[in-house]
Amino acid sequence: MIGLGKQHKGLYYITRQQNPHLVHHVNRHSSLWHQRLGHPSAAPLQALSKSIPEVVFDFSNNCDVCPLAKQSRLPFSSSLIKSVAPFDLIHCDIWGPHRVTSHSGGSYFLTIVDDYSRFTWIHLMSFKYETQSLLKSFFSWVQTQFNCRIKSLRADNGAEFISMRTFFDDNGVFFQHSCPSKPQQNGVVERKHRHLLNVGRALRFQAHLPLSFWGESIQTACYLINRLPTPLLSHKSPYVMLHHNPPPYTHMRVFGCLCYATNTHPIHKFDKRARRCIFVGYPLGQKGYRVFGLETKKFSTSRDVKFYEHVFPFSTQPVDYDDDTTIPVLPLPQDISHSPDDLIGPDDTSFSSSVDNSNISNPSPIVSPDINIHDNPQLSPILHIREHHQDLSNQVLVVPTSPSEPQLRRSNRVPQPNIKLRDYHVYHANLLEPSATSAT
Ligand SMILES: [Zn+2]
Repeated sequence: MIGLGKQHKGLYYITRQQNPHLVHHVNRHSSLWHQRLGHPSAAPLQALSKSIPEVVFDFSNNCDVCPLAKQSRLPFSSSLIKSVAPFDLIHCDIWGPHRVTSHSGGSYFLTIVDDYSRFTWIHLMSFKYETQSLLKSFFSWVQTQFNCRIKSLRADNGAEFISMRTFFDDNGVFFQHSCPSKPQQNGVVERKHRHLLNVGRALRFQAHLPLSFWGESIQTACYLINRLPTPLLSHKSPYVMLHHNPPPYTHMRVFGCLCYATNTHPIHKFDKRARRCIFVGYPLGQKGYRVFGLETKKFSTSRDVKFYEHVFPFSTQPVDYDDDTTIPVLPLPQDISHSPDDLIGPDDTSFSSSVDNSNISNPSPIVSPDINIHDNPQLSPILHIREHHQDLSNQVLVVPTSPSEPQLRRSNRVPQPNIKLRDYHVYHANLLEPSATSAT
């Protein structure tokens, strides 16, 4: 909407009292903050806009990603906070496995929620047995950083937690585990999982990223949720509840957007001075941005980044989010006709000098820099992202060949039935010629 007007002889005349540019400006920035913060509902944005002048909020904000990504939330009444101080009680649970491995090789993530502040930490894991070492590191980290000890831990009856009874006893931790077949008793972390997945889906959908980016999506979702006000905490954020001061917001950018990271090590004088990337999150404990190079196919961290927050390189065509097969990325438009306002340089970023406690010396961060996720870097400029476990055995690849080209080697792989059809009985249908059937 750019303004209100009255119709006169088939034309609409905008009322002079309104400033159309101002209305458009507010709506556009409201939508931008909605995307930067992981598609929150109206309440957190409204609370933030009152205290943070940079955060613009408009009630008429309309988003197409939210309905795709979110589902109904459970009422807050069943998750009352009973602890009186941080780390009196933490809730733990393991999510997964996911059928697609993340770029760092993770199939699970361990979630830890502080009952008092509702601050959340997640750790991607390749195997469930990593839980014990991660929890022990977390206990040590809390004691060092906050000078307090975790008093109680609540989890379900997972073997990973039950097997730590000795550790809990030695450290004087009261271990509360839910009754068999009663996962509702671990409801705090169950609801947190739902919230994390809602926001993670929204981030991935807005950026049109392949499913293999779920690790980056869920880590960024956790980062944002910790910094958003919630009615459960009297419209304070978990960050404020834990650190007693507000987190910075001005450095936040839209997940999955196009960005250019400065090439700090050019090979020669005529080498490129920037790398074309997408923004995939906030590195823990580092002052910069985590980016994924569209040409190098590597993850890295860079502080000198210029963003185009309205351009999503992976958004080329409608994507079936459940069918995460090869997703082509069309070449970027040659002329990015955005105003200079869209170009945000590193000088505009301001980071807090406070310790970011979402970094708990994460033993298994999302990805380590410079991980090459592709075995073959000699791909065409059109980027192809393919799942690790994608089953292509039933797909027919039609390759146009000329008589002069050598014959391709036939695969020795034993054909497997499509996993998506395992719940169905499929029969081959034969098309009969009309002459073969009786006309009587
Ligand atoms: Zn939204």
